[in-house]
Amino acid sequence: MTETTPTETTPTETKEQVITPWEVEAAPGGSVDYMKLVDQFGSTVISEELIARFERVTGKKAHHFLRRGIFFSHRDLKELLDHHEAGKKWFLYTGRGPSSGSLHFGHLLPFTFTKYLQDAFNVPLVIQMTNDEKFLWKDMTLEESIKYTHNNVKDIIALGFDIQKTFIFSNLEYIQYLYPNVLKIARCVNLNQIQNIFGFKESDVIGKFTFPPVQAAPCFPDSFPHIFSSDDPEIKNIRCLIPCAIDQDPYFRMTRDIAHRIGHQKPALIHSKFFPALQGHNTKMSASDVNSAVYLSDTPDQVKDKIKKHAFSGGGATKEEQEKNGANLSVDITYEYLTFLLEDDEQLKDIAEKYSTGIMMTGEIKQILIDLMNKVIARHKEARSKITDEVLSSFMSIRKLNF
Ligand code: ATP
Ligand code: MG
Repeated sequence: MTETTPTETTPTETKEQVITPWEVEAAPGGSVDYMKLVDQFGSTVISEELIARFERVTGKKAHHFLRRGIFFSHRDLKELLDHHEAGKKWFLYTGRGPSSGSLHFGHLLPFTFTKYLQDAFNVPLVIQMTNDEKFLWKDMTLEESIKYTHNNVKDIIALGFDIQKTFIFSNLEYIQYLYPNVLKIARCVNLNQIQNIFGFKESDVIGKFTFPPVQAAPCFPDSFPHIFSSDDPEIKNIRCLIPCAIDQDPYFRMTRDIAHRIGHQKPALIHSKFFPALQGHNTKMSASDVNSAVYLSDTPDQVKDKIKKHAFSGGGATKEEQEKNGANLSVDITYEYLTFLLEDDEQLKDIAEKYSTGIMMTGEIKQILIDLMNKVIARHKEARSKITDEVLSSFMSIRKLNF
């Protein structure tokens, strides 16, 4: 599908569900309908064939996020793999809007998948911290947004990114390097288009209207002169791949629409589903709703409490009912979280069978999840304790990368 077809610029809202970078709300009583989003946004479902190609190119078994359809949609991924196989340059770009002191499990989706891609393809990675965005959208001072940035960057580094190949930047500090591309992009998009894409209203502050080019600019290699030299005759052919949850797609639809007009390649995308809120599949785990999320800073007791009390259960209301009917896996949040976190396919299959047929009780599956989440958190806290202010400064310093 070309970028100029109407589906590419239609608003991201339907009567049934609202999915924007700031709001995820399924149709009343339902779950997020991802196939409808693919239709509406005009992206492409990742096929079995494309996963097989991924395995051939990387020489590795596909990540369980791909095997299980958690990363499920894309734009130009095939073309990006062609580009890679032809030995041409590309880079990864992802980000985070620091709105809480710690990352939550939902953030592990884009970031762990990005790390897997960085390891598999040995390419540079840029990570944008949109503290300017959070200042504009949230009730937050600039000082708070900077403090959150600092804490979130440490969390991100602790996930294991390679310092030789990773540049993390805060918009408040790095904006001067992005600004030439911000201007070029801003000259290509009018008010009507930006309102259509993002649903901004006339009463919204003007900062919101001017922000999208700032998230778009890192798609282009010349936003990083210390990584991609302007002397490189191939600089205009360097491509970018963005792993993110599908709520971020509007930014990059806009970017893809104007990329060629400013002499650049369209960014390619790989979209994930949402790590759902504790309360159910109708919305995502979000830093904006503390009750929806399990944080990487939670204590073992907090995790136990959250899962036991709040993780929506598809199991029977009583032991007898569960034994008789088994659990409805499609609404069970504990099971869903295990599909994200439990890498062992056999173990997951075994749990699914036993829980859905009533051999396993809700309390048992919740305990498996609690133990697993606490293991992930303990590992994360250990890794994070080693990320000093110096390490943080090194990742954020403007420097050459080796790749
Ligand atoms: P806020 O509630 O302040 O908007 P957030 O939790 O939505 O915070 P962002 O910083 O806006 O997090 O998003 C950073 C990245 O993480 C984006 O790629 C976004 O799509 C992804 N992301 C955020 N929440 C989830 C989630 N629950 N599941 C999957 N990806 C998520
Ligand atoms: Mg968000």
